[in-house]
Order: sequence, then structure tokens, then C-alpha cells
Amino acid sequence: MKLLVIGWDGATFNHLEKIRPKFYRKLHRQVLLPEQFWQKREIDSGAAWTTITTGKPFFEHKILSISGKIENETLFKLFSKIDHLIPSNLFGRAVKLWLMSKLFYKNPPLSIDVKSPRIWELIPNSLVWSVPVTHPPKPIHGVWVSGIPYPDSYGVYPKRIERKLKRIFQGEPKRGNDLKKYKRDLFEQHFREIEAIRWLYDQFEFNFAFIVFVLPDRFMHVEDNWDEIVKLYKVIDESTSELVKYIKPDEVVILSDHGMRKERRAKWVQIHDSRGGIIASTDKKLLVKNHLEFFEMVKNYYQKVDEV
Ligand SMILES: [Zn+2]
Repeated sequence: MKLLVIGWDGATFNHLEKIRPKFYRKLHRQVLLPEQFWQKREIDSGAAWTTITTGKPFFEHKILSISGKIENETLFKLFSKIDHLIPSNLFGRAVKLWLMSKLFYKNPPLSIDVKSPRIWELIPNSLVWSVPVTHPPKPIHGVWVSGIPYPDSYGVYPKRIERKLKRIFQGEPKRGNDLKKYKRDLFEQHFREIEAIRWLYDQFEFNFAFIVFVLPDRFMHVEDNWDEIVKLYKVIDESTSELVKYIKPDEVVILSDHGMRKERRAKWVQIHDSRGGIIASTDKKLLVKNHLEFFEMVKNYYQKVDEV
């Protein structure tokens, strides 16, 4: 494999610089910013990963969040002019998100709502794993395992490996009333996804992989205890390092769609920090500054390697 990209959804630059986990600290690294529009707003994973994987600005792909897309652009543009006046947190309530959900969210966005090609659609023999807004999977020359939002279960292309894969990895755990159980499930499913990716790697020859771990985002939404957060980063750092040793790609890029910061709001103890995302790599040249540049960087990387 030439390039292995691993998304650590919600991984936060200042957390990581404080903790300096073993694998991460050996990489070149910097903050990864969203496009301008989101720098002063709270970005959602749906909007962020769609820009990262298509290279298209938000106003072009129109994926607002994992819960909805922009259907009424005029209304959204109007809303964006005054949204700074609406509090994001009012006595612990997510006022702005609530209003946005009332105004804009009709249906969770699907892969077919994203009209531009995703980066892996340009590279033969790709593995796509759990990237938000990629359900249902499309036929590609490779393997496409869809990410959130999905109805009951994730989708798999090619279909013939679905049964086996679902025996290993069950997908995102449901958050019920038992928070302790939910946190345990998050980690258990993460270990299972590592096992599933290793299994896939044994079955296919991949040239490129785009993998997203949603664990950090999910876990930090419900946990703000620093010792637990340190453990979380050590776990993803270790599982990433394990995958890298197993796959032995030429280069690795780790990136996040946003960071997290402490703020108690609705059912969360931490919320998204749009300017706190990370990018880290074995090769300094692969570090881009914002979401919009990522697609081109990967495309160029493959063009260059193919010329050699
Ligand atoms: Zn996210």
C-alpha cells in the first residue's frame, strides 16, 4: 500500500501535544483547519469529512451534518448572516443546533447526495472504512464499508464479504441509558474494527486506504475526565501503530475533522472545536493546512508515484 490515511474523528491538537502518544509523537504534525466558513462556527463531522474527501467547499456539496443537508440554500445563507447572534449554549441547551435541526434537517445525507467523486473513487484498489456520509457504498475497484449515518447497519461493497465482516464488527454502538456500558461498547467495537480491517487486508491487495475511527469523537462527547481521555488517545495511537506495522504502507497520514473542548451542553460534556483538528504524517510534504486542500494533495501524491 502506498498511502494509508487514518481519521481520528474529534482528535484534538492540544490534547495530543500534551499527551504525546508513542506513535503520534514521531510524526510531523500541525493543526488542520476547516474551510473559512466553519472556522468561527461549530463544524459537524458530516460537513468536514465530505469536504476532506471531495475537495469541494461546503456550499458546493451542501452536506451540513450527519443529520441533514442544505435543501434551502437561500434560507441557509440568510441564517448564516445572523447565526453569530444565536447562542450555541443557553443554560446547557444546544439552542443553535436545535434551531438548525428545525430549519434544515430533513433526512440524514446519503452517499448519493454527494455529487463529486470521493478521493478513493479516483484510486484503484482502495479500502474505504467508516467515513461519515458514505452510506450506501458504491461499487468501486476495492472495498467500501459505509460510515454513519446508516439505518440499522453499515453497508458493504462487495456484498459477498458482508456476512463475514459483520460477524467481526457490528458497527457503531447505540447510546442507551447505561453510559458505562456505552463507553465499554465504544472501545470493544473499536478493537473489533481493527480486527476487521486486518482481515480485509489479508483478503485484498490495497493501494490506498481511507479509514475513520469515530471512537475519539463519540467517547469525548460523553467523557471529560482527563485520565480517561489520556487512555483513549493511547488506545487509538496503539491500534493505529499496530495497523501500520501490519499493513506497512509507504506513508501514513493521520487527521481529524475537528477537535473537542469541554462544554456541558445537552447530552454532551464536550463539544466540537472547529479549530482544534490535527494532521500528522510520516512525510512533511503531506501536511495540508485545511480541509479543502486534502483531496488535491492525495491526488497529486498518486500521480507522482505513478509517474516514477
Ligand atoms: Zn467529527
